Amino acid sequence: METYDVIVIGAGHNGLVCASYLLKQGYKVLLLEKRPVPGGAATTEEAIPEQAPGFKFNLCAIDHEFIFHAPVIEELELHKYGLKYLHCDPHTFCPHPDGKYFLGHKSLEQTHQEIAKYSQHDADNYLQFIQYWSQLMSAIAPWFNAPPQAIIKLAKNYGKQNILDILAVAGSKNKALDFIRNMVTSPEDLLNEWFDTEIVKAPLARLAAEIGAAPSQKGITAGLMMLAMRHHPGMARPQGGTGALTDSLVKLVTSLGGKILTDQTVKEVLIDDQNKAVGVKVNQNQEYRATKGVISNIDVQRLFLQLVKPEAIPPKLLNRVARRIVNNNETILKIDCALSEVPKFTAYDRDDLNHLIGTVLISDSVAHVEQAHSLANMGQIPDSNPSMYLDVPSVLDPTLAPEGQHTLWIEFFAPYQIAGKEGTGLNGTGWTDELKNKVADNVMNKLNEYAPNIKNSLIARRVESPAELGARLGSYKGNYYHLDMTLDQMIFLRPLPEIANYTTPIKNLYLTGAGTHPGGSISGMPGRNCAQVFLSQQNSLIYQARQSLESWFSN
Ligand SMILES: Cc1cc2nc3c(=O)[nH]c(=O)nc-3n(C[C@H](O)[C@H](O)[C@H](O)COP(=O)(O)OP(=O)(O)OC[C@H]3O[C@@H](n4cnc5c(N)ncnc54)[C@H](O)[C@@H]3O)c2cc1C
Repeated sequence: METYDVIVIGAGHNGLVCASYLLKQGYKVLLLEKRPVPGGAATTEEAIPEQAPGFKFNLCAIDHEFIFHAPVIEELELHKYGLKYLHCDPHTFCPHPDGKYFLGHKSLEQTHQEIAKYSQHDADNYLQFIQYWSQLMSAIAPWFNAPPQAIIKLAKNYGKQNILDILAVAGSKNKALDFIRNMVTSPEDLLNEWFDTEIVKAPLARLAAEIGAAPSQKGITAGLMMLAMRHHPGMARPQGGTGALTDSLVKLVTSLGGKILTDQTVKEVLIDDQNKAVGVKVNQNQEYRATKGVISNIDVQRLFLQLVKPEAIPPKLLNRVARRIVNNNETILKIDCALSEVPKFTAYDRDDLNHLIGTVLISDSVAHVEQAHSLANMGQIPDSNPSMYLDVPSVLDPTLAPEGQHTLWIEFFAPYQIAGKEGTGLNGTGWTDELKNKVADNVMNKLNEYAPNIKNSLIARRVESPAELGARLGSYKGNYYHLDMTLDQMIFLRPLPEIANYTTPIKNLYLTGAGTHPGGSISGMPGRNCAQVFLSQQNSLIYQARQSLESWFSN
């Protein structure tokens, strides 16, 4: 039986980041990944090899922002392992049916000019609004890069600018109260307070709702930082696709002696009679032993409800994991297309492809976004008038498609469980091949209204239903952030207050990944924070003494 210091369940980018920090400190690490390739929701794959050879698709994540608030890339020197970012400027294009459009540049001034063509009021307010959310991001970013209950580590992350930004956002009684109100209200309410036109409101609402809830929902205003982050620090994509980030981490891990085994689904965490995690069992009953830790890159619901024997978990905690953690019914129907030519958006009146460098949002109004999320949550498919988020990644990075041809990435929010179709289709969700293709047709018909050459330029497409996405990632209800990202499940509440510090009541069993602080998206922060907790426990004298005593008694 093979023995390691640490076993990581899942080789998503957070598992790989966590492993990298441990390997750098000399630990012997094994990562076990259920899919044939590492990366989880951070892969780039030639996913339609027969009909569209040479086209590379980001099956999940594409646009990176959060990672630039983390020190992971620099600390791990990922550029030495081939990682190169291409910056998106402009970053957001939102064409409207009446021929107007929002074009967000990295420069606030340039964006101000674009909006002023339609509304001076909204253009001026946009500057202030984005400044507020950028300052808020800077004020809280140090929280993201420390375990949420490690006050000293957290304090050390604060520099002069972060403190100035805290003062700007909450430096007086009125500002502080306004800040609280801003956090607990809804994006829709704030957008109505600040702006008159849908030109500004609709893209802001669409990106805010990427947090996974309708813009009318209270307590999800943090999502408004999504557009602010595209101005500062900016949005970028790894050359070669998101999978290039994973590739660089894989190279780093293996160069440090780490081992990654794919096609290895962990079925059980092995726990000894001292209630300590000592290894894992994978498919075909193969066992691997870990002397210092088992780290889970999958969320605590999957871990505790599927892989750990219930007797090992305090009953109250088990109940809270099962019932208090929330996953709504909204997930993604993903469409990846190979195109023979670049999409031609009729609204765009310039002779360049700048509008296709970043994201294209089909989001006509706040109400349009509202429908996209609230119908999905209720089990209905919002495809009578689809809103969508799309990218044409090969415009910024021609290495992703054969010369002159293009890839198209479409994200369409859809229910995991279709209402009234319980018990039918894949995993009882109601999703069938016929249905997913019908929905994809409706999505592409809508897109064709904005870019009329889309349908005729289609070489091939891959449609992944919510049920298929859930099965591929293994996440509950296909949740693209492992667990919902609403305020009640964030920071020191993620996934639950009593296990928000990456540790569990089972000795040597740790949590990382999107289901831990600070949550989903490409950031590497959960992986790095978990590594910090593990390492500081290992280095603590009390911990070392306890380990020695335990091994002395067991001998
Ligand atoms: C369609 C989609 C689009 C997205 N777009 C963006 C975007 O543009 N920008 C952005 O920042 N974020 C985006 N996200 C979110 C982001 O991709 C994820 O939050 C992030 O990749 C999660 O990383 P992770 O390492 O925490 O978890 P994961 O990537 O989920 O990794 C967990 C790993 O564990 C493996 N695993 C599961 N069960 C087992 C088991 N029993 N045994 C062994 N291995 C197991 C999985 O296969 C997976 O590899 C998107 C997500 C989705 C689904």
